[in-house]
Amino acid sequence: MRTPRLAGHLLAVAVGVLGLASPRVFAQSIRLQVDLTDAPRNLYHAKLNVPAKPGPMTLVFPKWIPGNHRPSGPIAALTGIRMEAAGKPLLWQRDVTDMYAFHVIVPESAKAIDVSLDAITSSDSAGGGGPAASSNLLDLNWNAVVLYPQGMDSDALEFIASVKLPSEWKFGSALVPVRMSGDEVEFAPASLTTLVDSPLIAGLHYKRIDLTNAADKPLHVMDLVADNETDLAMTPEDLTAYRKLVAETGALFGARHYRQYHFLYTLSDQVGGHGLEHHESNDSAAAERTLLDLNVRLLYASLLPHEFAHSWNGKYRRPAGLATRNYQEPMVGDLLWVYEGLTDYLGNLLAERSGLLSPEQYREALASTAASLDHRSGRTWRPLEDTARSVQILRLMGPQWSNWRRGLDYYPEGELIWLEVDSIIRRQTHGQHSLDDFCRRFEGGQGGPPMVVPYTFEDVVHALNDVAPYDWTTLLHERVASTSAHAPLGGIEGDGWKLVYNDQSNVFAKALEKLVKLADFSYSLGFTVAEDGKMEDVIVGSPAYQSGVGPGMKLIAVNGRKWTPPVLRAALKAAQSTVAPIELLVENAQFYRTYSISYHEGEKNPHLERVSGQPDLLSNLLTPLTK
Ligand SMILES: [Zn+2]
Repeated sequence: MRTPRLAGHLLAVAVGVLGLASPRVFAQSIRLQVDLTDAPRNLYHAKLNVPAKPGPMTLVFPKWIPGNHRPSGPIAALTGIRMEAAGKPLLWQRDVTDMYAFHVIVPESAKAIDVSLDAITSSDSAGGGGPAASSNLLDLNWNAVVLYPQGMDSDALEFIASVKLPSEWKFGSALVPVRMSGDEVEFAPASLTTLVDSPLIAGLHYKRIDLTNAADKPLHVMDLVADNETDLAMTPEDLTAYRKLVAETGALFGARHYRQYHFLYTLSDQVGGHGLEHHESNDSAAAERTLLDLNVRLLYASLLPHEFAHSWNGKYRRPAGLATRNYQEPMVGDLLWVYEGLTDYLGNLLAERSGLLSPEQYREALASTAASLDHRSGRTWRPLEDTARSVQILRLMGPQWSNWRRGLDYYPEGELIWLEVDSIIRRQTHGQHSLDDFCRRFEGGQGGPPMVVPYTFEDVVHALNDVAPYDWTTLLHERVASTSAHAPLGGIEGDGWKLVYNDQSNVFAKALEKLVKLADFSYSLGFTVAEDGKMEDVIVGSPAYQSGVGPGMKLIAVNGRKWTPPVLRAALKAAQSTVAPIELLVENAQFYRTYSISYHEGEKNPHLERVSGQPDLLSNLLTPLTK
């Protein structure tokens, strides 16, 4: 997922191996019952029985959420809090400065306290925006319904969790059910770490698809829920591609770090879109017609490959600053260009190698990414690493002036950096090695149940040098810590291709314009504009910017005619054979003004073009590892 990151502190976590599923002795289990029957109105009810000793006690609500990398625990949604012991109500008090902590005095002779609480889920789907549930389906992230004793390691707490589902709904989760009766399900005891790492989806319309044969372990399952039964129909081509995706990850990494793996896939326009990675599952939500409409399918093609790749890159191998003891300890996001950037690279690559994207679609996606970053005006003042460190303040920013502020650029720019690293390895080793070898050595390791192996920048450099000796420290420092007017395109160019612009649509921009009604004129006039004329962003330094136009203003007319994308495209074409400027009539909060833009270079849309005479390393990269 995109996650926010924590600034400030240096790595507070010792580098070592943190266990997740290893057997350990728990003093006493916390019981957690979640009643999900009110999910259609986005209210989850929970009851906890927490072992306790007489005296002061502090319970905390998870604040720093893995995969979000920021203090996104939905504390404002936590309501209906009541505490009692042996049936007698207890007074609780929120901490005066830490909104996530609750103090209570446990009475003499009490061995446990009972806590009941509600989670309002209308604006928190897996840490993203939008509701977590609709009339027909739900997504349960356990961090939204638990409190735990302050100071404890999440590995050291055991939970016995159960849910009550709306009548007739079926569920998917990596948690192991041990008892099912009617609509109630109890799961095998699990540490708090595993519980928070194992969301549950459920719905009236549910379908299970096995992606591996029953005899092949570990099992890979896709659990689908949708608002409509018809949206669950996966094409045979997609089924083949997702089966191949599993095979490709096996060939790439050489080991798996889960007991079984669940793709928890929600298809709905009613809940928030998201993708959140876990060790043994991913919790992803796409538009309801994703399996049916080719344009929608294209835009989501890399979602599941991305989240799946995180099981290795992000969950098993994790930057030390993100491998925290519990959910109150702040996270450090400096290495998110590895955590998310390498995953972005792998997500698109695995989508192509498995057949979810064609080679041409992969190149169009790459061209779009490269062009966007090459026109990121904020890169002249903000190093990439600062976008990672700032995840906690950048995650929820809107599009206005985003080219100047920069957003979570460690995702797409990370992809360019890792493509460049792959290209260098291929050239340095005369085609003997590639970044695939790094992935196998760094992310593969010993297979088995989930575990976390934290790493530092030096560990990354060391592993790269094992594959191909090179001055990786200098290269990577330059890429992430310095400012530069242009994006790192060395991977594309080293692989025998170049970024070009012409008047033909980029296939991703075209799909976006069709579905989201957002037209992209970033590389000609310098703005993106919604169907209603609202300018989403205006690129600093572009012709539109020079003329005085800004984001938030509303485009009304082009050369005297009501604005539509075809009208603006026609004006761009006409301007190529005249010296007259393009005139934009713009509304700026009730005030109208005409802006003249002297621009005569026509439409510019990004694509990749082969450089003749240079070896085509990109095609080598895109070749699947399995038959
Ligand atoms: Zn991600």
